[in-house]
Amino acid sequence: MQEYSKEAATIIEQLHKNQSKVIITVHQSPDGDALGSAIGLHLILKKNNISSHIIVPDEFPDFLKWLPASEDIIIYETSRDLCQGVIQKSDVLFLLDFNQWSRLKGLEEFLKQPNFRKTILIDHHQNPQITPDIKYIDTEASSTCELVFRIIEKNGLKSQIDADCATALFCGIMTDTGSFRFPSATWETFNIASFLVKQGADHAKIHQKVYDTYSESRLRLLGYVLKEKMEVIASKNAAIIALSNEELKRYNYKKGDTEGFVNYPLSIESVMVSVLVTEKENGEVKISFRSKGKIDVQKIAAKYFNGGGHINAAGANSPYTLEKTVDEIKKIIMAEL
Ligand code: 5GP
Ligand code: MN
Repeated sequence: MQEYSKEAATIIEQLHKNQSKVIITVHQSPDGDALGSAIGLHLILKKNNISSHIIVPDEFPDFLKWLPASEDIIIYETSRDLCQGVIQKSDVLFLLDFNQWSRLKGLEEFLKQPNFRKTILIDHHQNPQITPDIKYIDTEASSTCELVFRIIEKNGLKSQIDADCATALFCGIMTDTGSFRFPSATWETFNIASFLVKQGADHAKIHQKVYDTYSESRLRLLGYVLKEKMEVIASKNAAIIALSNEELKRYNYKKGDTEGFVNYPLSIESVMVSVLVTEKENGEVKISFRSKGKIDVQKIAAKYFNGGGHINAAGANSPYTLEKTVDEIKKIIMAEL
């Protein structure tokens, strides 16, 4: 599904002309694509003398803290007053890499208070549930970073992409395509990535900073998960991993440590669907779904857990305990696969 508002092609000029004060926000537990797209857009807006602030609902993992301009990012969970002040002074709101207000973890209440003159949604997830003034949606796109790039290009500003902007956008494309291996990476994605490298994105360094800076305990946790915790349901070509908060604590869990774990079972030839269920410190239970080929895990996440995402990668918060969530997922696997 593609929905492009024609205003998107001149949006930067419009924002400049109107002396707009922009806020860019992304979904909770921001990932490489959420942060990369927000930073890429933020840097281009700044280059065009447009006031811009990035506000994210909660903390982001250490392996993304090296991103250019990440020190400018305001975290709602820990800086509510600052957020409120900035929001009150702004009139344009960009929503990047999500399409349900509930993914803002409470920040939406702050954002709905002032009357934003314009809301602009740039996203690549299925089933948009937000009605913005301007939209740039492509559910086939590899990443929101790719969409931000296309908008910059349509606005005639491609040459303004400097090494920092290129680095941020490259990082998001890389992380959302599993280092360019998912089918969502098209020739256009590779073209864009190539251009970003030309503009100064150091692809080897970006990969290393994202994937080779974990702690020893994170790697031990992965070992434990694969050896002791991965349950393969052979009759349904599925696998499930459940991790309690106690287990995570045992391995000195830090935000981001379980990132990527859900992909490992898919490296077994017969496994087509993988599910990771993790219990957070506050008791919240988070589910990640991944699949290979045509199996649509977004539909399953939406139908049973009010979640969402893409055909091959989706997520949700569970209303149940860890144990009950695992029981429910096993029933769902039996019913749906
Ligand atoms: P992950 O499993 O890496 O957290 O997320 C996989 C995909 O599903 C991402 O595109 C993410 O944006 C989406 N996603 C994750 N959690 C949720 C959720 O709670 N609700 C919705 N609607 N989408 C989610
Ligand atoms: Mn994304």
